[in-house]
Amino acid sequence: MPEQTIAAHWSQLIGLQRPWEVREVELSHEDQEVRIHVVRGLRPRLRCPECDRVCGGYDTRERRWRHLDTMQYRTILIAQVPRVKCEEHGVRQVAVPWSDPGSRFTALFEALVIDWLREANVLAISRRLGLSWAQVAGIQRRAVERGLARRDKQPPTAIGVDETSFQKRHEYVTVVHDIEREVVVYVADGRTQEALEGYYEDLGPQACGGLERIAMDMWAPYIAATREKVPNADEKIVFDKFHIAKHLGDAVDQVRRRENRELISRGSNRLKGSKYFWLQNPDQMSGSQWREFAPLRDSRLQVARAWAIKEAAMLLWGYVRRGWAERLWSQWYAWAIRSRLAPIKRVARMIKKHWEGVLNAATSRVTNARAEAINSRIQWVKRMACGFRNRVNFRNAIYFHLSGLDLYPDALKTAHSKV
Ligand SMILES: [Zn+2]
Repeated sequence: MPEQTIAAHWSQLIGLQRPWEVREVELSHEDQEVRIHVVRGLRPRLRCPECDRVCGGYDTRERRWRHLDTMQYRTILIAQVPRVKCEEHGVRQVAVPWSDPGSRFTALFEALVIDWLREANVLAISRRLGLSWAQVAGIQRRAVERGLARRDKQPPTAIGVDETSFQKRHEYVTVVHDIEREVVVYVADGRTQEALEGYYEDLGPQACGGLERIAMDMWAPYIAATREKVPNADEKIVFDKFHIAKHLGDAVDQVRRRENRELISRGSNRLKGSKYFWLQNPDQMSGSQWREFAPLRDSRLQVARAWAIKEAAMLLWGYVRRGWAERLWSQWYAWAIRSRLAPIKRVARMIKKHWEGVLNAATSRVTNARAEAINSRIQWVKRMACGFRNRVNFRNAIYFHLSGLDLYPDALKTAHSKV
């Protein structure tokens, strides 16, 4: 094949359009590398990348981008990229259609990494594609920045607020999600009042006024932030089933651990290996598990009493009439507070203290399943990322996976639309 035809084929393969074309393809068997040399024709005239004004050329610089592999060969695009001298913006490198400004990768290569990031962790991808950890994390970070800039800013009417720990367990981030759209809308460092206030400030006073429900844990700094920034906060704050289940579940577990220690000291192994029974949602137990659990849950053990109180609270959701809900919760509270089980009494007092928010939740059909789903997806992001190195990467990963963002490079849409 004549040299010119080969160059034209390569131009087509990588989706180049005039005025850019392939001048030469260099094959290095030694380095297992294909190097595609690209040049720009003289027409159309050069333009400033900032203001799009036609400008005089200044000089050219050689730039390199990693592209999709060719067969088993790593493939590098090498271009002589003109720089212009704009009256307003000074010396600037002209835009290239195969890559976003500042990237060392072509848009198609970044898109490949983005697709991989949806399924595998940074470390695995960096090994498979021969990139550094920082390069993969950089592609993820830029994808998130693009996505956040493009995001539809329509303010939510119902949000869920969660804290989640990472790495050393006492490092936290605050995650805000839009309950209706089921996407994460904000991630902040820490779990302080300021962390959540940052979200409300971003949202602005008008959109804060438009919030109808705010589902959260009974966590004082979040409550304080919401009271500070959202009008009529107390009517809107909702302590949802998911979070109350978590507190009661922890209380049952504390009762079990303590009682188990006491029993063992008296030579009884009755509670040994039973942890799972007490913590699992009964709806998710198999028939045989439920039968195996029967002698324990019907016993006079303290943990059986704690468990019954927890499960009773779980049945108090879905009464739409507030009067009914209030009466039932009052009965539940009286039972819990007389239980002589310190961890259960603690949660009961917490519920009493935030009575309005609990009743708001119990009667308002806030979709607990969705809050729970977001939470388990955050846990998945955490597990998959094995070592985020820092909070910024963790935050990016949450946005990347859970915000429904449009992540691909701009250049992908322009240059390769025909491919
Ligand atoms: Zn300019």
